[in-house]
Amino acid sequence: MDNVAIFDSPGKGRGLKTTKEFWAGDVIFSEPSVAAVVFDSLSERICHSCFRRQDKLQRCGQCKFAHYCDRTCQRAGWAEHKQECGATKAFGKAPNENIRLVARILWRLDKEGSVVSNMQLTTLEELEDHVADMEEEELKEFKVDIHNFLDYWPRSSKQHTVDEISHLFGVVNCNGFTVSDQRGLQAVGVGLFPNLCLVNHDCWPNCTVILNHGNRSAVNTIFHSQQRIELRSLGKIAEGEELTVSYVDYLNLSEERKRLLKTQYFFDCTCEHCKNHIKDDLKMGGREVEGVKPSEEQVKEATDYCYEMLEKIEKARLNGDYHEVVKICKDCIDKTEPVLADTHIYLLRVWSTYSEVQAYLQYFEEAADYARKMVEGYIKLYHPNNAALGMAAMRAGVNHWQAGLIEIGHGMVCKAYAILMVTHGPTHPITKDLESMRIQTEMELRMFKENEYVYHSMREAALKNKPMTMLHEPKSVEEGIKNLFHRRK
Ligand SMILES: [Zn+2]
Ligand SMILES: [Zn+2]
Ligand SMILES: [Zn+2]
Repeated sequence: MDNVAIFDSPGKGRGLKTTKEFWAGDVIFSEPSVAAVVFDSLSERICHSCFRRQDKLQRCGQCKFAHYCDRTCQRAGWAEHKQECGATKAFGKAPNENIRLVARILWRLDKEGSVVSNMQLTTLEELEDHVADMEEEELKEFKVDIHNFLDYWPRSSKQHTVDEISHLFGVVNCNGFTVSDQRGLQAVGVGLFPNLCLVNHDCWPNCTVILNHGNRSAVNTIFHSQQRIELRSLGKIAEGEELTVSYVDYLNLSEERKRLLKTQYFFDCTCEHCKNHIKDDLKMGGREVEGVKPSEEQVKEATDYCYEMLEKIEKARLNGDYHEVVKICKDCIDKTEPVLADTHIYLLRVWSTYSEVQAYLQYFEEAADYARKMVEGYIKLYHPNNAALGMAAMRAGVNHWQAGLIEIGHGMVCKAYAILMVTHGPTHPITKDLESMRIQTEMELRMFKENEYVYHSMREAALKNKPMTMLHEPKSVEEGIKNLFHRRK
C-alpha cells in the first residue's frame, strides 16, 4: 500500500492521495472485502461463495439458506458461513442483506481484530457512519435493522454495544460496495472494502473501481485467486494528487447528481463539473439543423414527452412486453429525434433501450444503428476511459457484427477493448471475451475485404452457432455497473 497515503482533503475529510505518478490502466491498489453477501432477492440464484450466477445451485443442508455451485464453493465459503449458518437456523430464517453483512463483518473482526489484512489503511471504527445525518424515515428503518440484528446475533458470539453496531450499520449504509456477478454485468450483492471507503467522490474522477472475481476454476480452493476490487487509474495522475472515483453516473445533470450525492452520501459536491454545470447544455440540448435551433419551448416539450415515454417503456419492459417497448420507443424517437440533440440524456436512454430490445428480438440492423448513435452520444459526454462507454461500445460492436456490418463492428470492439484494458484490466473475464471478439472480427474483416460473398455465407453459419451472442433478457438501465455503492431502495 505504499502507492497511496491518507491525507486531509480540504472540505472532504479524510482522503487518499498518490505517493508517485500513475498512468492510464495502472492498478493503484487492490483489496479483498472484509465481508460480502448476496442480495436477498438473488439468494437462491447466486453462489454465496464465488458470486457466480448458476442455474442449478446446491443448498446448504443445515440452514437451507446459503446456496453454492458445488462442494468446492461450499468448502471455500464455510469459514464465512459457519457462524451465519448456526445463527440462521436458530433465528428461524435469514435476516436481510444489511444485517447479514454487518454480522459477517463483526464475526470476522471478533476473530481477527480490527485490521484484517496488512494492506488495510484504516480501521472500521475510523470510517464515517453519517448516522447523525439521516432523515427521520431512514433512521426508522435503520433502527428496525439494528433491532432485528440484536435478535439474530447469537448469545454465544462476542457481545457488542448498540453504538458499535449502529456505527457499522451506518458504514455499510453509505459505503457498502455493489458486488457484481463474475462478468460484471449485474449487481448481485454488497460488500465492504475499507480502503475504498477512503476514496472521495468527484463527478469527473481520475480513477475507476472494478471488481475482479479472480480465477475460481481450480477444483482445489487453495488455488483460487482472491476476489478483490481494483482501483485503476483512468489517465495520468501526478504524485500527491487526490484519488477520486465517481459514486454516481455522470449521465445525470449536475443538479441531479448533487441531489443524489446529498441524499445518499450526505455531502455537497463542489467538483468543477457541478460548479460550472459542465455539459449540462449538451445533456438537455436541442438539435441544430443547418444552423437552426429549435426553440426552448420545443426542446422542453420534447424533453417532457421523452421522460413520460421512458416511464412507459420501463413498465412494458418489466412486464416482458418487448414488442410494446419497441413500439413506444419507435414512436418516441420519431417525435423527439428531430428536436433533441444527439447528446440529450433522455433520448440516449430511449436509443439504448430500443437497440437492446431490438437485438434481443434479433432485429440486428436496427439494434446496430441505434447502439452506434448511443455510443456516439456517450463519446461526447463521458470521460474517454469511462467503463460505461466501454461497455456500450462492446454492445454496439456485437450488434454490428450480428448485423453483418463487420467494419464498424470490428472498430467498436477495438474501441471497447482499449477502454476495458484501462478500466477492467487484461485478466477480467469481459476483457478476455473482448480479446477473442477482437481476434475473430479481425479475421472476419480480412475475409470480408478479400471476398464479400464468402464472408457473408460464413457469417450466416456463424450466427446459427451464436458464438458471440449476448441475448440475455434486457435489464433495467439503472442496474449493473453504474451504481458504485449499494443503496437501500
Ligand atoms: Zn460458486
Ligand atoms: Zn448453512
Ligand atoms: Zn460534482
